[in-house]
Amino acid sequence: MGGLGPRRSVCSRDIAPIRNTETGKETEGVQKTAEVVIIGGGVMGASIAYHLAMRGCTDVIVLEAKSLAAEGTGHSGALVRQHYSQDVVTEIALRSVRIFEDFEELTGQRNVFQQTGWIKIGSEDMRVEMERLIVRHRRIGVEVRMLSMQDLRAMIPGINTDGVGFALFEPRGGHADPVATTLGFANVARSKGVAICEGVAATGIRLNKGRVAAVETAAGTIQTSLVVNAAGPWGGRVGSWAGVDVPVQVTREQDVVLACDDESLMPRYPVSNGVDRDYWRRKDGSMLLVGDGHPKQSDYADPDNFSREADRPFGKMIMERLHFRLPEFAKHARIVKGYASLYDVTPDWHPILGRVDAVEGLVLCIGFSGHGFKLGPAIGGLIAEEILDGKAQSLDISALRLSRFAKKELLQGAYAGNQA
Ligand SMILES: Cc1cc2nc3c(=O)[nH]c(=O)nc-3n(C[C@H](O)[C@H](O)[C@H](O)COP(=O)(O)OP(=O)(O)OC[C@H]3O[C@@H](n4cnc5c(N)ncnc54)[C@H](O)[C@@H]3O)c2cc1C
Repeated sequence: MGGLGPRRSVCSRDIAPIRNTETGKETEGVQKTAEVVIIGGGVMGASIAYHLAMRGCTDVIVLEAKSLAAEGTGHSGALVRQHYSQDVVTEIALRSVRIFEDFEELTGQRNVFQQTGWIKIGSEDMRVEMERLIVRHRRIGVEVRMLSMQDLRAMIPGINTDGVGFALFEPRGGHADPVATTLGFANVARSKGVAICEGVAATGIRLNKGRVAAVETAAGTIQTSLVVNAAGPWGGRVGSWAGVDVPVQVTREQDVVLACDDESLMPRYPVSNGVDRDYWRRKDGSMLLVGDGHPKQSDYADPDNFSREADRPFGKMIMERLHFRLPEFAKHARIVKGYASLYDVTPDWHPILGRVDAVEGLVLCIGFSGHGFKLGPAIGGLIAEEILDGKAQSLDISALRLSRFAKKELLQGAYAGNQA
């Protein structure tokens, strides 16, 4: 399949102002034609638009039904790590770290990355897999070192190390601001001529002889030969418009935010805790965001109708885990906020990327299964390659294509359960 090829000049625009009936907000409107239409304005849609624009492809429309980063992205824990089971995902995570590190320089926007380093703790029965993984990760270029229990206690004062078999540290990890990251990419794309339409939902995809011909929206039809499905939890629905079965299930995921009377007890480092199955990281400097880690039960949800509040039993469960692992902190901490958002989960908990064999002009960028934020900066570049060059050139992403499900070539996680 050929890509869009070398860049031509920016297409002329035919913009009609439209009003979102829900919010009353006026948008730039939608063009009647575009080279590329991206459905979804989370981190993925924004990053793809940014990378396309940086390569000179600016005849692009991003359609976002609500506002940028309104859904999973805006509620992301946004921990940044490179510790993954599949080398291709680790490579993408490492590339994203480089973009986060250079975000200000690359985008001219403010820094979005707190490069504190990231700690993983695991139980003894995870050790063999972990050791295998870090050998591979180092070969890819990931910086990682093992922590002794003494190191761990020094880095997380007050931690109870019962049940902790190992701890590792990625100094280039940390956490980022997911909304600012998305807006940063979108701002650059917009400044180069990309149309970012908030409050405009895509409502259909028109095909002509098996090729994408147009995207329908409430504000009119956009003729295009290339559409990117970056609709996250709505990705299955968007796929069905083109007759493509995209195996994405939607689950509801909760986080709580804690304040603490004594800030010195608040852990400084983001941690993925594979022992008690939770994760935490600082939020807004003085609070701690805590969520449920893997493996975990799936709470399947309707993306158009789910409770956005965290449940009381969830908060209670998190507090119990913290009372065990960080007893001093938990004694002085209280939940000040809780919320729920959505994961778009594939059968193997790995994303679906790239062009689709059955429909020419349809590119998928969905199914991030709860760990996509940190991959977003680099994935935008890979999807831009799929669009412009026909396929991703700088990295072989064939293992992440939709066809893996039909071929029964599902990807495996190194650890038990649904951990990618
Ligand atoms: C509670 C929680 C914690 C998480 N923690 C982490 C973490 O620590 N680290 C990490 O890397 N990842 C984490 N994730 C996962 C990460 O946030 C997601 O994988 C990532 O943000 C997905 O981005 P996206 O752009 O694919 O999807 P989304 O952010 O869901 O964006 C999709 C967008 O598409 C729009 N849309 C849908 N249908 C249409 C349509 N028809 N027309 C127009 N627009 C449409 C939606 O409104 C939405 O804004 C977490 C997720 C959650 C929910």
